[in-house]
Amino acid sequence: MGKNKKTAITPTRMEDYPEWYQQVVKASDMAENSPVRGCMVIKPWGYALWERMVAVLDAMFKETGVKNAYFPLFIPLSFLEKEAEHVEGFAKECAVVTHHRLEAGPDGRLVPAGRLNEPLIVRPTSETIIGDAFSKWVTSYRDLPLLINQWANVVRWEMRTRTFLRTSEFLWQEGHTAHASEAEALERTRIMLDIYADFVENWLAMPVIRGVKTPSERFPGAVETFCIEAMMQDRKALQAGTSHFLGQNFAKASDIRFQGADGADTHAWTTSWGASTRMIGGMIMTHGDDDGVIMPPKVAPAHVVLLPVFPKDADPDAILAYTRETGDRLRRESYGNRPLSVEIDSRDMAGRNWEWIKKGVPIRLEMGPRDMAEDGVFLFRRDTGERFSVKRENLGQVIRDTLDAIQSNLYERALAFRNAHTVLLDDKESFYDWFTSKSTDKPEIHGGFAMAHWCGRADCEAGIKQDLSVTIRCVPLNAMEEDGKCIFCGERSLRRVVFAKAY
Ligand code: AMP
Ligand code: ZN
Repeated sequence: MGKNKKTAITPTRMEDYPEWYQQVVKASDMAENSPVRGCMVIKPWGYALWERMVAVLDAMFKETGVKNAYFPLFIPLSFLEKEAEHVEGFAKECAVVTHHRLEAGPDGRLVPAGRLNEPLIVRPTSETIIGDAFSKWVTSYRDLPLLINQWANVVRWEMRTRTFLRTSEFLWQEGHTAHASEAEALERTRIMLDIYADFVENWLAMPVIRGVKTPSERFPGAVETFCIEAMMQDRKALQAGTSHFLGQNFAKASDIRFQGADGADTHAWTTSWGASTRMIGGMIMTHGDDDGVIMPPKVAPAHVVLLPVFPKDADPDAILAYTRETGDRLRRESYGNRPLSVEIDSRDMAGRNWEWIKKGVPIRLEMGPRDMAEDGVFLFRRDTGERFSVKRENLGQVIRDTLDAIQSNLYERALAFRNAHTVLLDDKESFYDWFTSKSTDKPEIHGGFAMAHWCGRADCEAGIKQDLSVTIRCVPLNAMEEDGKCIFCGERSLRRVVFAKAY
């Protein structure tokens, strides 16, 4: 990129990536900070994207037999305590409700009053409260499998927050299933991981690595945590979805038991899986450029924006009518599984064009007297900056083709970026150099995904984390067995894992 090119976002990605991200969120009008620390206001453009994501994922879940339900926001403290690892994992970030009303204090100001006998936890996740319901719903093997999902908000009192990526309150879905056999529960864990990978790759256009977390990164109380990991443009990893195999741990804690066909009484096997508004942040950080967001067409809140141009001596009414007519025609077209989503912005003002660039609408169509004379429009493609005129008779097809091209270009571009910053490393010195390199002109931008051997010991993992703030993102599911030496201690290892700095 030319150094002097003027960009809509300051700073650029290269200048200051974290600040670039905050500025893009602001400039795209997707979300803003709220008066409550760590919580965000999701604005219409951001929320419309979330609604698209919800619609697609929800349909994918339902196709596999999952049904939606809703459980309470509050969890009795005693429920959370039932699973020892679980409560330990979440205790440090729980919002606790201790009172149930307000009273005027001595100085007239309102103070909490009416202490609850048992404090309530604002759900950080709902295994325990849903487990309690499951224990009542399940008595026989005929009640299984139970495949339940809820769309909800959760609260985790995070210390370092960032819009979408890590907030104290976030929107997500959490799926919870119970099964009569271990194999079936494991299979469900994998099915949901594959759905996340499918969604993130084919809809959000973000390539991901599917893998298993190491014990230190596991969900508290899980037997195994599966995840998808994506690379952002600062080469850090973002965990974009998790699917947990819970074994019988939570079934024992919540007493989910069933009578088998043979009459024997057994605890069920359970799973849980979640994906959140973090995916929006991942999408922005994967595709955004120095002019703002770039929405993948398949989830874009609007596919096309129509921008009538009003030269001084032209008849604005005629141009407006032409624009509306073009809009009506386009709305009868479809893209993928839905009608083309078309916005018309007829405000005659400077900066209008840039607003839509920053919002990341995939295609902009300008039309003025000269286009009208040719029964055409002028098309601008957001991802590549290409521009060309199109006759209106071909417009529907050209738009569909262009949206397809943008969708696949975004994916290919992100994949090429990930490949360019993924290396196989076999000795400790080059591993340390790679993650701390001072040789680039931007010393804070280095590293990426290092595929290196790990012996399996938590000590080695912790040592690397301590030295470099680099963690094992996952053991890839497609990792081939290969003889090697642990990058930290030199002991024998049979597989490479993905090391990276992470969000
Ligand atoms: P978990 O229940 O910890 O496995 O998380 C489920 C999903 O929520 C994962 O996809 C996480 O990336 C996401 N997530 C966890 N914590 C946060 C947070 N503070 N803000 C946004 N998303 C989160
Ligand atoms: Zn080792």
